[in-house]
Amino acid sequence: MEEGLHPDVIYINGDIVTLDKANPEAQAVATWRDKIVAIGSTAQLQKMGGPRTKIVDLGGKTLVPGLIEPHSHFILYGPIALIRVDLSSPPVGQIKNMKELVEALSKRASVTAKGGWVSGFGYDDTTLEENRHPTRYDLDKASADHPVFISHISGHFVSLNSKALLMAGINKDTPQPVGGVIRKDSKTGEPDGVLEEAAMLLLYSILPALTLDQRVALLAESARQYMKVGVTSCGDALVAGPGPVGAQDISAYQRTLAEGSLPIRINMMIEANFLLKQSGGFLTGFGDDRIKIGPAKIIGDGSIQGYTGWLTKPYHVPFKGDKAYCGYPFTQPEQLNPLVAELHKAGYQIAIHTNGDAAIDAAIEAFRLAQEAHPRTNCRHRLEHCQAVREDQLDKIAKMGITPSFFVSHTYYWGDRHRDIFLGPERGVRISPLKSALKRGIRFSIHSDCPVTPVSPLFCVFAAVNRLTSGGHVLGPEFRLTVEEALRAVTIDAAWQTFEEDIKGTIEVGKLADFTILDQNPLKIAPEQIRNIQVQGVIIGGKQVN
Ligand SMILES: [Zn+2]
Repeated sequence: MEEGLHPDVIYINGDIVTLDKANPEAQAVATWRDKIVAIGSTAQLQKMGGPRTKIVDLGGKTLVPGLIEPHSHFILYGPIALIRVDLSSPPVGQIKNMKELVEALSKRASVTAKGGWVSGFGYDDTTLEENRHPTRYDLDKASADHPVFISHISGHFVSLNSKALLMAGINKDTPQPVGGVIRKDSKTGEPDGVLEEAAMLLLYSILPALTLDQRVALLAESARQYMKVGVTSCGDALVAGPGPVGAQDISAYQRTLAEGSLPIRINMMIEANFLLKQSGGFLTGFGDDRIKIGPAKIIGDGSIQGYTGWLTKPYHVPFKGDKAYCGYPFTQPEQLNPLVAELHKAGYQIAIHTNGDAAIDAAIEAFRLAQEAHPRTNCRHRLEHCQAVREDQLDKIAKMGITPSFFVSHTYYWGDRHRDIFLGPERGVRISPLKSALKRGIRFSIHSDCPVTPVSPLFCVFAAVNRLTSGGHVLGPEFRLTVEEALRAVTIDAAWQTFEEDIKGTIEVGKLADFTILDQNPLKIAPEQIRNIQVQGVIIGGKQVN
């Protein structure tokens, strides 16, 4: 703020949680334009006020640094919320069995022009009463006249009806793609409709493209919904990915911002091959504090709850009776290593989706080889999800300066099933071992991976400090964080992961005026109450946007 000028806004009369270790508590905060200009006592700051300074009385509410959702799919949220049929099961949605799933889709088909696509999102084979993926034969009951496809809650599987399979040219002669599976009937060889991982690209390549206008409207809807849960910055975990409109993702973001409909700051994780071959050479960090090129994104494996996470030891309950089955890589190590090396040499930050410990091993090795060939400092290469990470892997992660973004809300939504079905009692209780990472000095963030789980940084904090499962059990209590440690993982440490620790993540003079207003102070209530905290407002760049 220049000499003689007064703050635009002074916030008083609330709990101000700065997360600045040197100055953890304050009575008041002043902002000018988009920055924080003063922190101190109410009396001190009120003296700075001028005739046009707005005094915001927080009325006992709590001001925290703007919350960051470091890994979610902002660009997919709008289509899922507004276009696709919600097929999720309790506790998130309503669908309990195949009959209800088919009914929801046929209801949508009845109001969709003949031949138009009907799509759904969020079914979960392990929560449907039938305990299996819906097949083409189930989906044909919803409609034979419309192409129908539905996505698994993990995003790692789709299921297609017969018409959609026909349109995608998938039949019993279609060869299995590398990094994916077209599930086929063991007797007839006919595809049963379910496509795993890289096989989904066969569908994505034929889907009709949304127009830019539609995409702007959908991104604006994502922003509205994210702001309701207090998000001020978001890492979009796959931009310019496969599909008919991937290459227009960046312009869709740019246009939404230009139209004033994107108050949230976006860090774009851009599909690695697109970055290398089609982006024109922009490196991580290009852009501004509104939209920025983030890391190059690579998919290492699938999802553990879908049996496609790549493990070093077999799944607890064998997949289709196969006692040796360990999942598989999405990107084969022989492709991963040169890709990581090329990105690393070019100067990118790299983020690799890794759920299973075999995928984590492969990613660590790829980073090691790249670093050996082209030593670089301060890379902050990321491991996304990092759920089944082992203690010995955390040692390497600490030593190599790698930074995980943990998918901590799994402890609640799938925790019981990780223990009982996918990973077993030993590995299942230690998914996302945040305390182990913290003890080694590893910096990390925590995320919702929305739309896989509902977006809410506060719910991630709740999950990290309680490790409570939806069935009411505590999963690996020794890995719980304190509330303050968990808050740092959705503020300052998440900002550090995007090289933005100097401009956001704490309430400090000179940083961006991004705040989230809460009805209760998370540091002053019982940890199990954190999920009941209500977001009362969001301020981004000094402006109240929600
Ligand atoms: Zn993701």
